[in-house]
Amino acid sequence: MAEVPRQTQLLIIGGGPGGYVAAIRAAQLGLKPFLVEKESLGGLCLNHGCIPSKALIHASSLYEQCKHAARIGILADAKGVDGAKLQDWKNNVVRSLRSGIESLFAAHKIVWVKGTARFTSSTTAEVEAEGTSQQVQFEKAIIATGATPTQLNSLPFDGHWVISSREALELSALPKDLVIVGGGYIGMELGSHFAKLGTQLTIVEFLPTILPGTDPDAASLVSERFARLGARILTNCQAQGAVPKGDRVEVRVKNRSSGEEFALEADKILVAVGHKPNTATLGLENTRVTLDAKGFVEVDAQRRTKDPNIFAVGDITGNPMLAHKAFAEGKVAAEAVAGHKTVFDAKVVPGVVFTDPEIAYVGLQEHQAKEKGMAVKVGRFPLKASGRAWTRDDFEGFVKVIASPEGRILGVLIAGPDASEIISEAVLAIELGATVHDLALTIHPHPSLPEALAEAAEDVLGRAIHFYRPPKP
Ligand code: FAD
Repeated sequence: MAEVPRQTQLLIIGGGPGGYVAAIRAAQLGLKPFLVEKESLGGLCLNHGCIPSKALIHASSLYEQCKHAARIGILADAKGVDGAKLQDWKNNVVRSLRSGIESLFAAHKIVWVKGTARFTSSTTAEVEAEGTSQQVQFEKAIIATGATPTQLNSLPFDGHWVISSREALELSALPKDLVIVGGGYIGMELGSHFAKLGTQLTIVEFLPTILPGTDPDAASLVSERFARLGARILTNCQAQGAVPKGDRVEVRVKNRSSGEEFALEADKILVAVGHKPNTATLGLENTRVTLDAKGFVEVDAQRRTKDPNIFAVGDITGNPMLAHKAFAEGKVAAEAVAGHKTVFDAKVVPGVVFTDPEIAYVGLQEHQAKEKGMAVKVGRFPLKASGRAWTRDDFEGFVKVIASPEGRILGVLIAGPDASEIISEAVLAIELGATVHDLALTIHPHPSLPEALAEAAEDVLGRAIHFYRPPKP
């Protein structure tokens, strides 16, 4: 392992998407960053979040497709799931990508150590690595320590009965029955993975809907698919506690509307109710860094905290807690440290829910415009009218384009296959201030799913080609 230096131009704490990207950008700009990471480069996203979850979701979707392929004349034999091999493959994906980051660090001559760092002042930190502790003096620091799954007081994590997404991603034995507490994106993504592999799944959601804040039409498509997978979704329900019962666990649930109380039995309970920022052990009290009411580090447009020497990026700065936001912030902070004129001025940050169908959204959504009483035009295009969707035998879903009365694109929602890929065109359109005419006049390859985006833009203008909407009387 590399030695801990006594002085550094730039100390980076945390090697996740925020921290490692900041380190690479800083090195590109001629700085010599020193990064301290408690576990592994890649952080939560690569090791316990985005990447392992999407690998597993890909695998379970493949299994699900094989099971139904006979419908289109493909006789695949989906005999079952080798959970150990699935884990090996997923771990190999993670390892390969992690070694990619390690190689990039080596290529950029970025020094990093496995350890923890804690501020002792606005210019010094104590770094503990390999059982030794050393003071490091820094000119600038970037905090990128991310967030940890939130624990419910009534259902504390015990690593066996009550688990977080981290342990759920490591399960090689498929739970027969799984209760997921929390119908947000992480709960629904992992739920769809397990349900597709045959787990009997129950989602317990406190609020009246799953995927709170998401377009209700898209959320109900996901609910319908879950129902077809045999999964139960209990909304307006609160999980109140759990007790082991032999080799199973019982979770007590209260229906918040009717007051009815009941128990569910499962092999595991996965609690996915959000993440809280990792600030507790950073010694922030020795600096001028401030936290907001929710405990996130307060930053300006350059991601500088109230302490002029210290920046913060990624989940620790608050919502949206997404890897691509952390990447972008990491670059901005490193550029600011290098003295560049830079700001985080993204107009929009897209979000994706990797369920079935995938939901991807960016900018203003139809229901948000309604809540705000904003006058908008909404164009819609159902995937049932998309040639490409039919050729993929996957045509459940739709695209919505939300535009200002003058036609400026304000938001897009895609529910359907590859929504996560198609949304980038909409992000670019909004960043460039495009109008629905721009999108409609852009020639899209045929047959392709992004054609649906152009058709939804045409629908704003009342002239979609492959979908008939009777003129308004
Ligand atoms: P992190 O990735 O959390 O990295 C912080 C690092 O800091 C960690 O490696 C930690 O070990 C280290 N650290 C903490 N304290 C210290 C200390 N004192 N000293 C040294 N090191 C320390 N986002 C998406 O955009 N797309 C997705 O598909 C997606 N899927 C997800 C799926 C799951 C199951 C989960 C849990 C999350 C998912 N996310 C996804 C969210 C994404 O993982 C986070 O937004 C992202 O990892 C945040 O990056 P970060 O750099 O801020 O923090």
